[in-house]
Formats: sequence, C-alpha cells, structure tokens
Amino acid sequence: MIVMKFGGTSVESSEAIERVTCIVQRERRRHPVVVVSAMGKTTNKLLLAAREAAAGRRDQALSIVDELRTHHLIEGLALAGPAAAELDRYIRTHFEWLDELVKGISIVGELSPRSTDAIASVGERLSSLIVGYAFRAAGIPAQQMDSRQFIITDDSFTQAQPIFEEIYPRLRDRIAPAAEESVVVMGGYIGSTRDGQTTTLGRGGSDYSASIIGAGIGAEEIQIWTDVDGMLTTDPRIVPGGRRVKQITFAEAAELAYFGAKVLHPATVAPAVEKNIPVLILNSQRPDVTGTRITAEPAPSTNPVKSISCKRDITVLNIRSTRMLLAHGFLHRIFEIFDRFHTSVDMVSTSEVSVSLTIDHTEHLREICGELRQFSDVSVETGQAIVCLVGENIRHTPGIAGRAFQVLHDKNIRMISQGASLLNLGFVIAEQDLVSAVTALHTEFFSKLDPNIFD
Ligand code: ADP
Ligand code: ASP
Ligand code: MG
Repeated sequence: MIVMKFGGTSVESSEAIERVTCIVQRERRRHPVVVVSAMGKTTNKLLLAAREAAAGRRDQALSIVDELRTHHLIEGLALAGPAAAELDRYIRTHFEWLDELVKGISIVGELSPRSTDAIASVGERLSSLIVGYAFRAAGIPAQQMDSRQFIITDDSFTQAQPIFEEIYPRLRDRIAPAAEESVVVMGGYIGSTRDGQTTTLGRGGSDYSASIIGAGIGAEEIQIWTDVDGMLTTDPRIVPGGRRVKQITFAEAAELAYFGAKVLHPATVAPAVEKNIPVLILNSQRPDVTGTRITAEPAPSTNPVKSISCKRDITVLNIRSTRMLLAHGFLHRIFEIFDRFHTSVDMVSTSEVSVSLTIDHTEHLREICGELRQFSDVSVETGQAIVCLVGENIRHTPGIAGRAFQVLHDKNIRMISQGASLLNLGFVIAEQDLVSAVTALHTEFFSKLDPNIFD
C-alpha cells in the first residue's frame, strides 16, 4: 500500500484531476490511498466568506460561496460521466448547508474557531467526493471515505492535534482492508473530535494527514504530489532558479519545513520517521521527474548545505531582565507566557541580561508583552525574516558560518542560531534584505553541485 497526496493546485480543475487520475492509474497495483486537498484556493475563499459573514457582509459572503459552487459544479460534473446527476445533487447539498451556515454567522455576527473549521472543511469534503467520482468514471474502482471518522483530534479548532491511539486502530482496521479492495480517496486537513465536531489540522495540513494515514496503514511509501519538482535548493517564491534536491534526510526535511519550506507541512515528517516510511515529493504536472526522496539515511554529498529556507513576516522580541542579571526562573517565566497564549517561539538567543526570540503568530502579541513587562523591558521589531541553511554535513564542515557571514557582510544580522541538531544555521535579518541575502547565499553554496544529490 502507498499514500498519494495531491495538493490544491494538483486538483484545482477538471484537467488537473484528469492528470491525477492518470498518475493514480499507473500506481494501482500498489493499492493507493489517495489524500486530496481542497481544489485550488478553495480554503482561502471559504475562510474569506466566513470572515465576511462575521463582519455582517452577508451578500459578499454568499457571493463567494456562489462562486465556489459554480466552480465545483462545472469542474466536478465534467469528470463524473454517467454519475453526473448524482454528483450534482451531492455538491448542491453541501453548498445549501454552507449557505445556511454563512447566513447564521452573519446574523450572530461572530465566528468561533469551531464554525471556522466547519466551513473550512467543506473544501476537502468536496474535493474528495469529486475525485472519487472522477476515478470511477475513468474505470478505477474507488471509494471515498470521510476522514472525520478516522482522523480523531483534540478540540483545538483550527490547529487540532491528532490523537494517535484513536486514529491508528481505525486506519488499520478499516482503511487498510478497504485499500486492498479499491482505491480509497480521503480529504486531507480535516478531522473530528471524539464527539464528532469537525476540526482541521491547521493550514497546509493535508501533508500531515497523508503521513498520519501512511503510518496508520503501514504504507511502504508516502507520495506528496505538488506543483514543483521536489524540494528545491531555495524557496522559488523568494529566489527563482533553485535546483532540485534529489535526496534528503527526515531531519533535514523537518528542519526546512519548520523554517518555511511550504512544500511540506512541518508536522509531516514525524509519523513517517516513527514508522520509517520514505516520503517522496513529486510534481503532478511533470510526473516523470523523480522528485525528492526523504529517508532516514543521509546520502554522501560534497555540498554541506542541501537547501536554504526562509520565513517572512517574523517578529523579534527583545526581553531584558529589569533585575540586571538573568535571575533564576527568568526563562521559565517568559516561556510560560508564550505557552499560555499558544504562541510558538521559533528562534531564541540569550545574553547575560536579555533574551531575544522570534515568533510568527502575533495574534496575542499585546497580551504577551503586557505580561512580560511586569518583570522585564520589552522591545518589539516587526518586518524581520529568518533564513536557515540546512544540511547534515554542516556539522562536519568547518567554515560554513564564516562563508555565510562573509556573503552577508553588508547586512545587519539580528540573531544567529545553530540548532542543537547541528544541521542548521539560522539567522534573522530585516525582511527588506531577504531577497538579496538569499540570492547571495544561494550563489555561495550552490554554484558547484554534487550530481548525486542535485539535479
Ligand atoms: P500544495 O498545494 O501542493 O500543498 P504548497 O503551495 O503548499 O502546495 O507547497 C508548494 C510550494 O512550496 C511551491 O509552489 C513553492 O512555492 C513553495 N516552496 C517553498 N520553499 C520551497 C522549497 N525549498 N522547495 C520547493 N518548494 C518550496
Ligand atoms: N486546503 C488546506 C489549506 O489550504 C490544507 C492543504 O492544502 O494542505 O490550508
Ligand atoms: Mg501544501
């Protein structure tokens, strides 16, 4: 058995889903479980409709829903063959429910995280329905299964945490046998609480769903099909022209994802590592490219750095102890506050009297600063970016930091961190320096490439 996950662009239209159908057809003898994201930018639009409704703009919200209805009907029905009338009914039923929900939100003028998830989940519920119909119309025996019955989570709506002891037995007992019979199609990103409330795993969470499902059914491989040839040497949205990395380790992939390589959701790697299942990143528009293979074992490489990831829109907090020295318990008090406000800290550096740290979610910044100021001086710098060099060989190669900082000699580097894993070297710079910094670092570290690792 294998898991094949197709992201938003890979299922954005009927043509895209036809490509998916061919790709799945080629792998049929390996008993695929297919995990799909919502079509194209559907999740963004659903969330926008929810916000418009909550702000009292009912008509705008309903017109976004209408646009989505038309798109799903046109693209979906084009694929369903003789079952088009049946699919039409299902799609319309989902949208009628959505209309009612949006109207309800606009009346109360309030959007809870729980209603947000109910609305956001419609994207994956519809795409998995449509892809199931497309497969059957193309002669592939396929059944859609509702992920919410399998991916059981806690009730942290919009960022729900999977409860593995509930999930794995269900996947093993029901999905694995079903996949022996026919192609199983499931929506990514969505789950439900034990008492049946719909949840989501956070934006980009379909990759995570795929790896959870892969671990749960004991898949031999997890394929992440997307719109790029694999993990590239840098983020193509920042610096185009990056090269494909053919092979990386779980640890490298996790680090890259954590520091901004959007091609993989940061949590994806953990379930695959636990069961030692290789993860492949592949391009659904160029299915013959071999992509990136992510495994436990590092392959020998003459390049110390495998890829450079970056994260924009970072906020740095400088927290200075008002009692001059870092008193016992100071760090504990700081991190307890971030924990209480569910705000994760990406990078930390300390001096004798101060701590600098970065966050990328600022929803609770005001409250956090308010509490920190009860025992420290706090300054906040917005508009920062993290750049991170990642590679298993960084730890074995002297002089990497020297080369990096030489390249960045004219930039103001705000923070530096070499992760405890010793496979990354990260720093914070002003966001306006990001493109020039990454371009220069990319030239420095990727002018000569080991052909065994890069393409
Ligand atoms: P999907 O909808 O298939 O999940 P995403 O948009 O979530 O696709 O992820 C793919 C995108 O990730 C690419 O189009 C690319 O812009 C971005 N990306 C960021 N960093 C990298 C990187 N190092 N290698 C490849 N893609 C990257
Ligand atoms: N559709 C969800 C999102 O846009 C999940 C995903 O695509 O992975 O965030
Ligand atoms: Mg994604």
